[in-house]
Amino acid sequence: MQRGNHRRQNGGCKEHIDKETFKQIFRDHWEAFKAENPRYNNEYHDTVIAKMLNCGDPKTMGYAQYRCCHCGEAHKVAFSCKSSFCLSCGKVYTEKWAAFIGGRLLPGVVYRHVVLTMPKCLRLWFYRNPALLSPLMRCGHDCLKDVFSTFKRADIDIGTVIVLQTAGRPGEYNPHLHILVTSGGLHSKTGNWSRADFFPYEMLHKKWQYHLLSMLRREVGPAAQPDIDHCWNEYPKGFVANIQKGAVPPGGEGLAKYLAKYLVSPPISVRRIVSYDGNSVRYWYRDHRTHAIEHLNLPVLQFIGRMVQHILPKGFQRIRYYGLHSHPRYRKMRRKLAMLVPHLRAADGEYRIRPRLSFVQLFLLTFGKDPLLCPKCGEQMELELLWHPKHGVIRNYFEQEMREVILGPRPTRPSQPTARRAVPRAERMVPLPLPFL
Ligand SMILES: [Zn+2]
Ligand SMILES: [Zn+2]
Repeated sequence: MQRGNHRRQNGGCKEHIDKETFKQIFRDHWEAFKAENPRYNNEYHDTVIAKMLNCGDPKTMGYAQYRCCHCGEAHKVAFSCKSSFCLSCGKVYTEKWAAFIGGRLLPGVVYRHVVLTMPKCLRLWFYRNPALLSPLMRCGHDCLKDVFSTFKRADIDIGTVIVLQTAGRPGEYNPHLHILVTSGGLHSKTGNWSRADFFPYEMLHKKWQYHLLSMLRREVGPAAQPDIDHCWNEYPKGFVANIQKGAVPPGGEGLAKYLAKYLVSPPISVRRIVSYDGNSVRYWYRDHRTHAIEHLNLPVLQFIGRMVQHILPKGFQRIRYYGLHSHPRYRKMRRKLAMLVPHLRAADGEYRIRPRLSFVQLFLLTFGKDPLLCPKCGEQMELELLWHPKHGVIRNYFEQEMREVILGPRPTRPSQPTARRAVPRAERMVPLPLPFL
């Protein structure tokens, strides 16, 4: 392994790496990879890969067509695949999720960011049994509730937002949890907010070990016993659990954005791929202990394996809410805590909750340009139609507008559905492009 020579390696190298390179790797080798790895030879994985390959292709994904009313130029914006496996979609979705999580944090409450990891010898259980990933997330919440309650010597009702991440820095299978946890919680007897200014680190390591190993014993049974025994003997101080000290930016906005980085990032970003020669892929990552840049040269099938092993089971919710944050309780808790904890604001700074962003705002924020400005003349474009590969034009906004100009606005509540005036076919057809005065 070589260090810190990313720049030198690239110097003089004419190879151009972009999102297409990542797609090309899969176009070239996906079939061969599946043949060697039957676990991935199924419709679900084929669909995820096909979506990623077709992302941004108007013919297969469908598109929205915008038209400039100034010069008549038409501009198609292809629909994206919205997959967390896609390198193109990742960036926009980071912003989107940041806005979303920001809206789900409880105003006035202080949060901490906790990372719970597991030793190598346990990871295989989760790789082989993805059904264990849900209990893993649940047990992250139970562990923290236990820590706060033990520390406060009372039943403390906490709130957590938990994100499951399966990729370690170099892309190996390393399931771990990123947790935003309320720093304190509701005292179940008094109903008051109980703050936790101090976090009992040592207790956290031991509790995490206890909760994780108990869950494994419960879910897997005696087959896991040798690994469980090994973990008790090998880690007398407990498992690695980090509190990101001082790293969490204050305020709902920064905090959510910070977490979103872990939530939606694909297993690798384009800038980390150094080269692909048809047989092997060279990429770099930053070692989380030494912070040095490490380079890896992997045979292409191994590289594909390192990427696809992070595709979660179909429909799996990568982000979950527990305790005060759980769906049935969240609204009520938000109202209740707004009354209960305003005094925390003075001490800890106010949380600013981000409003949800529109597509245009997200695009502006992510790419720094307005997607709706005409590439030819710079004037504002209007949405003209939506096109779907199966159904053709599914909505034509200009046609609708013209129809209203010709026929008058549609009645909001027709007296009798059958009594609608039959519009002659010729009148219904409005030719494109449309005159727009
Ligand atoms: Zn995509
Ligand atoms: Zn124009």
